[in-house]
Amino acid sequence: MGVPLLELRQVCRIYPTGDEPFRALDSVDLQVNAGEMVAIIGTSGSGKSTLMNILGCLDPPSLGEYLIDGQTTAELNNEELARLRRNRFGFIFQRYHLLPHLDAIQNSEIPAIYAGIKKTDRKARAIQLLVRLGLEERCQHRPGQLSGGQQQRVSIARALINGGQVILADEPTGALDSTSGEEMMTLLGELHQQGHTVILVTHDVEVAAYAERIIEMRDGRIISDKRQNKAETTASPKSFSHDDFTSVTGLRTIVGRIGEASRMAWFAMTSHRMRTLLTMLGIIIGITAVVCVVALGQGAQQKIVSDINSMGTNVIDISPGKGWGDTHSSTIHTLVPSDLKILKSQSYIDSVTPTLSTSAQLRYRNVTASASISGVSEEYFRVRGLEIDQGSIFSTEEVKRLAQVVVIDSNTSKKLFDDKEDSIGKVILLGNLPCRVIGITQEKESPFGNNQNLNVWIPYTSAMGRLIGQRYFSSITVRVSDSFDNATAEQNIIQLLTRRHGTEDFYTNSSDTILKTINKTTATMTLLVAAIAVISLVVGGIGVMNIMLVSVTERTHEIGIRMAVGARQSDIMQQFLIEAVLVCLLGGSIGILLSYGVGLIFPLFVSSIAMKFSPLSIVLAFACSTLIGIIFGFIPARNAARLDPVEALSRD
Ligand code: ADP
Ligand code: MG
Repeated sequence: MGVPLLELRQVCRIYPTGDEPFRALDSVDLQVNAGEMVAIIGTSGSGKSTLMNILGCLDPPSLGEYLIDGQTTAELNNEELARLRRNRFGFIFQRYHLLPHLDAIQNSEIPAIYAGIKKTDRKARAIQLLVRLGLEERCQHRPGQLSGGQQQRVSIARALINGGQVILADEPTGALDSTSGEEMMTLLGELHQQGHTVILVTHDVEVAAYAERIIEMRDGRIISDKRQNKAETTASPKSFSHDDFTSVTGLRTIVGRIGEASRMAWFAMTSHRMRTLLTMLGIIIGITAVVCVVALGQGAQQKIVSDINSMGTNVIDISPGKGWGDTHSSTIHTLVPSDLKILKSQSYIDSVTPTLSTSAQLRYRNVTASASISGVSEEYFRVRGLEIDQGSIFSTEEVKRLAQVVVIDSNTSKKLFDDKEDSIGKVILLGNLPCRVIGITQEKESPFGNNQNLNVWIPYTSAMGRLIGQRYFSSITVRVSDSFDNATAEQNIIQLLTRRHGTEDFYTNSSDTILKTINKTTATMTLLVAAIAVISLVVGGIGVMNIMLVSVTERTHEIGIRMAVGARQSDIMQQFLIEAVLVCLLGGSIGILLSYGVGLIFPLFVSSIAMKFSPLSIVLAFACSTLIGIIFGFIPARNAARLDPVEALSRD
């Protein structure tokens, strides 16, 4: 005779209750050989279930040793214990312990899922077992649609799906009527005949009579162990290889397990739709906020940039003095016509204009108005990107001969002339100087609100010679060739003029630098608002954690069942983590859709800024959702994985 299949040596199970620890099992010695059918009887509270839990590796002994095939279980870790439960043992409980939201096939399959068996194989095997157990027409029924006897048969199928070398049945007939109970015992007898080792707990002597060996317990001790003569089993005991002690993990089984965990998570989510939706709400709002804010920020930035571009991006202003507000700038008179000529001859300069500014009273017939007068060159309109609406700009020749001609803007035109009147060719007075209107500029939308100023442009020569009487410019503005780098051009101009003036008595200002500053400020703004949105995401995440914690508590019983039939801690952890991530990803997707919806409605209310959705913000939103799921799902998932299987099973 070889080693017994299962052997308990001086096993105690001590519960730390009250002031004195309670010994539910007291120095139990027991050997069970492969192929035996053993009935354990005893009054309620005598320790039968405790013994079964230890035999099934659900609960470790407090003292003593438990050996399977002569190998001690004390050194096995949780993973290896789960493997034993999965591959060797098949539990049958008094109250069936089926998962209510799964049908008969899916319930039977669970241990095979955790064993990493291929989907088609395990389904075929589950159906085969259910058919053998007479549940052919009940395969797609959920536990609620099955009678007690049928449910117990589903749990037998579950016990057998991975082989079920040892069937552990704790009061399998306890909840059944006598007919179903008899059927159940006949089935267990058949399994015994086929070579399964069957250990069953009962307090019914008639039920115990089916077994060839009856063990009686009282107060945590075995008080009798009797064998009765029964017909010898025909089949040889089921043999098992020992490889279930070594852990094998292939990439395929890992991928399969993740797939299964996702499926289970999906099941759980769809069976609590309202709760799932509420959980997602925080994430939905958070993601919507993030995506919308980023889109708005980018839209605003683009708007500002395009506004500045419309003023001319590659424009450099040269002014006397050391910078804005230099009080000495009015005493510097070094920007003169010869500077203009030199700048004009530079290859990288597209066009250039001086500016002399003054204001004057305009008069046409009996209408007067004050306007700002700028003396500029004929290239001014190109430099500033001003289009002419009617008439024309002044010519080089007109500039040369100090012509008394002006270009006016539409404001001035509206102010001085009747709408119907053609203002081109009319002579107006600038102060005392009569000038002929030769062009009207197109109205230009200003980024800083609509301008009410009246602007009049006159050749700078005329301004210098006839209007102001000064020999220097207030400033020079240059437009750099499109192909040339703005910053380099600026450097060149500074060098050139410094050489000519002998000192750097001027400063430059390029729209490029303004643009950069604005870009930087809007980026900071976006960041700031995004930070607020991220806070809302964190709040959403805490919501997810909250609900997940509730979900774990609510599903403690389910977790217990899964562990009893062989789920690893990592399987449980994975399932809840994936559930959290799925909830967040789904919430994130809805959030993204919602923000697109906002993007569609937004232009109906606000026309000045458009929302700009970038693929980056969407990728970011998904990454955020996943991360939140993992971070805030971790603690609930770990709580679930750390549950004690026996305790979890006993909870409802
Ligand atoms: P039964 O023979 O009815 O299956 P059990 O094995 O379930 O008996 O319980 C044996 C004894 O251990 C009982 O007195 C029970 O109250 C006690 N017991 C079981 N589980 C626990 C526990 N988790 N904590 C404290 N006492 C327990
Ligand atoms: Mg019990």
